[in-house]
Amino acid sequence: MGSACGIIGSGTKTVKLHHLIKAPENTSESIKIRESWDANKPVIVYKTPEILPNGEICTAATVILRTKGCAWWWKSGCTFCGYFNDVRDDVTTENMFSQWEEARRQTNNFEDCQMIKVYTSGTFFEDRENPIEWQEAVLRETYERNIHLVVEAQAQMCNPEKISWLAKLNPNCTVAIGLESYDDKSLRFHVNKGFTVKQWHKAVDLLKANNLYVKTYLLFKPPFMSEGDALHHTVSWISKIAPYCDEISVNPMNIQKKTVVERIFRNREYRPPWLWSLVEMIVSSKAKISDLDCRLIVHPTAGGKIRGAHNCGKCDASIIKAIENFSVSGDTREFLGIDCSCRLVWKEEIDSFFSLPTPLGNGVFRRGENVDIFSAP
Ligand code: SF4
Ligand SMILES: [Zn+2]
Repeated sequence: MGSACGIIGSGTKTVKLHHLIKAPENTSESIKIRESWDANKPVIVYKTPEILPNGEICTAATVILRTKGCAWWWKSGCTFCGYFNDVRDDVTTENMFSQWEEARRQTNNFEDCQMIKVYTSGTFFEDRENPIEWQEAVLRETYERNIHLVVEAQAQMCNPEKISWLAKLNPNCTVAIGLESYDDKSLRFHVNKGFTVKQWHKAVDLLKANNLYVKTYLLFKPPFMSEGDALHHTVSWISKIAPYCDEISVNPMNIQKKTVVERIFRNREYRPPWLWSLVEMIVSSKAKISDLDCRLIVHPTAGGKIRGAHNCGKCDASIIKAIENFSVSGDTREFLGIDCSCRLVWKEEIDSFFSLPTPLGNGVFRRGENVDIFSAP
């Protein structure tokens, strides 16, 4: 390899991978598609069974709103996040109230719901993203109706004034933070999260000090991470963060459109996680945190599909069902008796990674000559 090319570079100014991928997203054509959405209608509204912080099973409404989107995404953005596909930057306060009204209409005024998850593709209480009068109306309405509210936030957006304001208006609230990885290197190089582990701790301390419930998302297998590493790290991260959380929700990677991870997935350099890894991760971590008061849940979005966590195709449905059942019962006996011949392929991938770790892993999904893969930087 000559000194003027390859990993050393050609001497020209470097271009960030993220900008190469985002650039087509900001063409007038892409913007036109995004802005063709009706700003008075939420992205989606649905009801599911859920568990309240006191352990009771309830009905929850999930409302995903079409907002201005995450301030971090406009600036840079996480490598796996395709939420921007659903946002538009001209959403007004009136639009937000109309979307909320439409969510009420679709759920018959949140009939039988003891919980509402209000997802804004960003931070619920960030004033640049969502109008403050709308935030206040949602906080007041849910509290007055004794409905547990779940909102999402980035750690660095949790400042003392905002959190005490939120806790005053609605003390019956869970704040969910997408930590993704409990490791600063992974946060920076795999996730591009925009905050650090220290900032997450600060946010959690603040939420606890205000008696709010803490939910943390971890991302299983971010881009540029092998299956073996994902399994090993996630088990360790769960046991490290569990003492600080009321709930940990592990999101197995699903490939969203026009993201960094989609780029490497299309190039066959990334395979979404195996369902077997999730089973192994649940069983191993549950054993480590069983004496703590922290719920562990896993929802494989697009499970069984090529863009979501999947196995061989034959056993996927039964394993996804067992994982979903575990998320309600918290009982690892849901996995007893589950098996398939593809478990050996998965096990081989994990074992061979631990005996000879290679960058990005060595699963059969990877394209290219073995010699190149093993010698890749
Ligand atoms: S994952 Fe969350 S913080 Fe990251 S870009 Fe998406 S909405 Fe923003
Ligand atoms: Zn199988």
